[in-house]
Amino acid sequence: MTDWRDRLPAIRGKLVKDAVLAPYTWLRVGGPAEALFLPEDEDDLAVFLRGLDPAVPVTPIGVGSNLLVRDGGVEGVVIRLGRAFARVEPRGDSAIYAGAATLDAMLAREAGKAGIAGLEFYRGVPGTIGGACMMNAGCYGSETKDVLVEAYALDRRGERRTLSNAEMGFSYRKSAPAAGGDLIFTGALFRGRPDDPAGIEARMEAITARREASQPIREKTGGSTFKNPPGHSSWKLVDDAGWRGRLFGQAMFSPLHANFLINTGEATAADLEGLGEAVRADVRTKFGVELDWEIKRIGRPAPAAA
Ligand SMILES: Cc1cc2nc3c(=O)[nH]c(=O)nc-3n(C[C@H](O)[C@H](O)[C@H](O)COP(=O)(O)OP(=O)(O)OC[C@H]3O[C@@H](n4cnc5c(N)ncnc54)[C@H](O)[C@@H]3O)c2cc1C
Repeated sequence: MTDWRDRLPAIRGKLVKDAVLAPYTWLRVGGPAEALFLPEDEDDLAVFLRGLDPAVPVTPIGVGSNLLVRDGGVEGVVIRLGRAFARVEPRGDSAIYAGAATLDAMLAREAGKAGIAGLEFYRGVPGTIGGACMMNAGCYGSETKDVLVEAYALDRRGERRTLSNAEMGFSYRKSAPAAGGDLIFTGALFRGRPDDPAGIEARMEAITARREASQPIREKTGGSTFKNPPGHSSWKLVDDAGWRGRLFGQAMFSPLHANFLINTGEATAADLEGLGEAVRADVRTKFGVELDWEIKRIGRPAPAAA
C-alpha cells in the first residue's frame, strides 16, 4: 500500500523519510519526522508545496534553538531551509535583506560591516531569520518588530506572499502567522541607520560578552523556557520555587540562568517537558502565577510501552 510519501511532487532538493530530528535541534531530543524536506531553492519549495496533499501537515524549522520535538516524532513534512536561503544583501545605506536560513548573528555581522546600525541585538540570538520572524526574536530592549520592513513567505499552496511589519502582527515573542501555521518565511527586509562600522562592532562584542557571562550558550538548551509573565521574571519564579540546578532525570534548569532548560546528557523530550510542567505547577501553587511556554513544543509523545 502506498502512503502520501510515495505520492510527492518531483523535487530537486533532498527528501528524507523517517528523519530523526534530534540533531536538528539545540536540545538534541525528539523522534522522527515522517518526512524531512530540504529544498534546493525557493522555486523547488514552491513546486513541492503546490503538489503536496493539502491534508499533510507542514512544519518549517530553523536551527531548532527554540524547539522541543517530542519523542514520538512529527506528523507530515518538516521543512528546513538551506544555503540558497542564506543570502544577505545590503540595500542602500540603511536597509538589508536576509534569507530566512541566515543566522541572526550573520545578519548582525553583515549589517555591521555595511555600516548599518540597529541590528546589533541579533548578535545575541542563536536562531535564523525565519525563526526570528515567527517568534519576534529580540533581546536587550530591541526586537524584530523594531527593525523589520517586510517579510517574504510561501503559503501552504506555494503562493508567494509579502507581509508588511503591520501585517506580521508582532507581540511578545509572537507573530500573527505563528497562530495560523500556514506560512514558510523565505526572507525579510530590515531597516537600520547608517553608522560607523567600528562602533557597531564594539556594541556587538559587548553583547557577546554579556551573553557568555549570563547564559549557558554552550549547553543543549532551548533558550528561555517560559515567557516573562506581566510584572514577573520567569527566571526568578523558577529560582524562588527552588528549581535552579535541580536534576530531573538528565533534565535541569540551568544553574547559570534559571529560565534555561538544559539537557545535561541523554534526557528525553518527555523528561524535559515533564520538568517544565512540574515547575509550572509548582510556581502556580506557590505564587499563583501562570508560566507560559516560550519554547515551541511540537510532535507527539512516544507511544506508551506495552
Ligand atoms: C542559548 C539561547 C539563547 C537564546 N536567546 C534568545 C534571545 O535573547 N531572544 C530571543 O528572542 N530568543 C532567544 N532564543 C530562542 C531562539 O533563538 C529564538 O526564538 C529564534 O528566533 C528561533 O529561531 P530558530 O531558527 O532556531 O527557529 P526554530 O527553533 O527552529 O523554530 C522556532 C519557531 O519558528 C518557526 N520557524 C522557523 N523557521 C521558520 C520559517 N522559515 N518559516 C516559518 N516558521 C519558521 C518554527 O516552526 C517554530 O514555530 C535563544 C535560544 C538559545 C538556545
